[in-house]
Amino acid sequence: MNIRDSEIMAQSLSRYGYVEGMDLQDADLVILNTCSIRAKAEQKVMSLLGYLRKTKEKRPDMKICVAGCVAQQEGKTIIDRMPHVDLIIGTQNIYKIGEYLLDAEHGGNRVKTNMEDQYKIPAFLPDVPSEGADAADDNAPFQFSRFVTIMQGCNNYCTYCVVPYTRGREVSRRAQDIVDEVALLVRSGVKEITLLGQNVNSYARTNEVHCENSNYNFSSLLREVSAVKGLKRLRFTTSNPKDLTDELMSCFKDVDNLCPQFHLPVQSGSDAVLKAMNRKYSVEQYLGQVEKLREYCPSISISTDIIVGFPGETDEDFEGTMELLEKVQYHGSFSFKYSDRPGTRSSEFENKVDEEVKSKRLARFQARQDEIGLERNKEFIGQEKEILVETVSETSVKGRTNTNHIVHVNEPVDTKPGELLRVKINFAGQHSLKGELV
Ligand code: SF4
Repeated sequence: MNIRDSEIMAQSLSRYGYVEGMDLQDADLVILNTCSIRAKAEQKVMSLLGYLRKTKEKRPDMKICVAGCVAQQEGKTIIDRMPHVDLIIGTQNIYKIGEYLLDAEHGGNRVKTNMEDQYKIPAFLPDVPSEGADAADDNAPFQFSRFVTIMQGCNNYCTYCVVPYTRGREVSRRAQDIVDEVALLVRSGVKEITLLGQNVNSYARTNEVHCENSNYNFSSLLREVSAVKGLKRLRFTTSNPKDLTDELMSCFKDVDNLCPQFHLPVQSGSDAVLKAMNRKYSVEQYLGQVEKLREYCPSISISTDIIVGFPGETDEDFEGTMELLEKVQYHGSFSFKYSDRPGTRSSEFENKVDEEVKSKRLARFQARQDEIGLERNKEFIGQEKEILVETVSETSVKGRTNTNHIVHVNEPVDTKPGELLRVKINFAGQHSLKGELV
């Protein structure tokens, strides 16, 4: 979500003469697009702002802007602590960043975090350059894989999560705007699209997205987008299991360009913890969904998110998470120690788990996930796979399978980024595969 937001800001600012760059020392404007899902990310923002204070002392014309969830949540308190910051821009206000920067420069309010416009997501068609024109510019390689936001916000209020507070209530974009955006991207050369939302499974539930079809839902959108001529690969993220329907799962059986990959965050393998998290599904229901997904698509790669040490998590609860890992045999997972986030309900829960216990549990989970992930990767050895080429050098090629595995081909290949190649996998490592050209 943050990557897409960064793209939107870069695009908006290009109309004000800004060009994207990576060199902090030369930049006229530095934007910190922040995430507050973990305490560590927030601490990093503050320390980077402290560092930027010195740069700004040497170059007072340089502008500093803080965007994203930390900006939304902390607002003016950031400026109180870091007065050298020029603009705080909230999650719903990024479409107007150029206008707000000018306003702040002329003495206007430096904190723009109102949520009044959240029900008016612009029909934001990206201003993409053509593949040919862009490919010549090494500094801005064409992105053959792009994100398209289909909705913002979330209504679920999981007890540990700041998203409903920082990104507002759930609102879906009009289906036609999304299809038009995808078609435009594909016409410009994009091969792979990932549809983005906090919980894509509830797309179209809270507002009308299709004037002629009131039953239109995420599965309808997925099928419509998949039919865009020339689109090679389609993905989506993220899904709350409580809203995962059979209709959506069945898309993996018959939508040809839908990639066989599903990120299905479970968070815990204990019903008691899931209840305390307000996740509204049980371990048994979740396992039923995994089984069904594998029935519809036996080659599907499933990954998840795990929080260990949620308040009240007992040894037995944690064993439930380990059992779930054994049963599902995830291809990969993102696992974290629980940390209190300001404003969330769980931050007020009293039965917090000791830090040392959390660390031990996390280390155990991750060690076992690494073993399983490697075993899963080894299953690819001997298989032929199609990869979407990402980078090419004189001696090697790097690409990605439709299951989202990175593959290195260590031989010179006459190809270029964006092409599809068939490779035979001959080696599996922890984080990537190796293959040879077929
Ligand atoms: S569904 Fe996801 S984004 Fe929404 S509250 Fe729960 S964890 Fe946060």
